[in-house]
Amino acid sequence: MHMNQVYRVLKIKIPWRLVEERPDVLDLVTRMHLAVEEYAKTLLKEITGQGEPKLTTEEIDRLLTPDRRELAVKIIDVAFPKYGLGRYFVKQAKMFWRETAFWRAVPLDAQLRIENERDAGRAVFVGLKSGVLRVRKTGIPPFAVELKKGNVAWIRERLQEGARLKLAFLGIERLKGKKEPTYGKLYIALVFARKVQQVEPKAVVAVDVNRLDHGVMMGLLVDGKLRQTLRLLDEDAVRELRRLHEEISRLDEQAAREADPARRRRLEERARHLKSRRFRKIRGVVKDIVGEIIKLAREHQAAIVVDTMEDETYRELKEGNWSGEKKHLLDGLGQLRRRLQTLARWYGLPYLEERLYSTVCPRCGAKMEELNNRRMQCPVCGFNDNRDNVPLIWAKKRYWELLQKQPAFSATTTLLTS
Ligand SMILES: [Zn+2]
Repeated sequence: MHMNQVYRVLKIKIPWRLVEERPDVLDLVTRMHLAVEEYAKTLLKEITGQGEPKLTTEEIDRLLTPDRRELAVKIIDVAFPKYGLGRYFVKQAKMFWRETAFWRAVPLDAQLRIENERDAGRAVFVGLKSGVLRVRKTGIPPFAVELKKGNVAWIRERLQEGARLKLAFLGIERLKGKKEPTYGKLYIALVFARKVQQVEPKAVVAVDVNRLDHGVMMGLLVDGKLRQTLRLLDEDAVRELRRLHEEISRLDEQAAREADPARRRRLEERARHLKSRRFRKIRGVVKDIVGEIIKLAREHQAAIVVDTMEDETYRELKEGNWSGEKKHLLDGLGQLRRRLQTLARWYGLPYLEERLYSTVCPRCGAKMEELNNRRMQCPVCGFNDNRDNVPLIWAKKRYWELLQKQPAFSATTTLLTS
């Protein structure tokens, strides 16, 4: 019986109020961030001999072999005191030297008090009954964050699934899309772990995720037959997203034209507000879709096979002449894949990313032509079907092969095991 150690992370925001009242918290998190960046960069530079190597997570995982430990320890001893990080951080970083380089954060030891267990004196202490999370032993006076009801419910669900709190990270969100890196909200990430038995798949759930606003096609295949197809689409959410997008574009244009600084700031403020609403909306859509897929896969003990665009195509789409709206939908697809993978692994379901073509004929392999109404036709053998169904027919054709396939190796499964 194959058992896997699996992880899920709960990110808890540190409220702005606390950050304002306690500048030493922001200062600490910033120092940790800088120390870890310096450590990770120096380590990877020493290993590869390159200045700023661009590495994938898999490559980093491969490079951090046990024999690098001594080098890592030396770098930590230099980098951490430079940023005023004391013994506790140095000890943790050395113990989890791979994780620290991989996650770019120092894993802190943590305890979850469910009832009235004794306080073991760890840096992060989460009281489930009191609903308070405390951070201490970090060289600054302790600080506390109140857990939201949703956080407590989430933790209880994980406990029921047999997970326990493994460790915690203290971090700062790095905002993308600006020339200079800017930093956003502070957070505490709680890492929960459990052992899960790998499911021997008895079915396949094929998922085609080409466009979030067209919905996600899902097909259930059992014994090589397509048993059920379902389009997951929340039309209200798509309408709302379109409306939000139009308003944001309008505000952005207005702000660009506005000469009065105060009025321009107000317009920008309003646009920012709507952008975070759009972000939450997309996240909500993704969450619902992934929930449906996981539910079906668990019911049928199915392997999840996701059609993915090749990275090349994905990059072209992102960099190409796409409107902002489509870019966000595309980012949503990235989120969807990551979330699906995380949850599939959490429940022991095999997860595969495979090309399931929508424009290649599943009968003869010829390139198909698109007719009206998203109908695809093969000019060679005459096969024709709706474009959305073609990937599912490919999944059916490859059913037995997909069922046998081992899930792709992923770096994150080998980490956080010490
Ligand atoms: Zn054909």
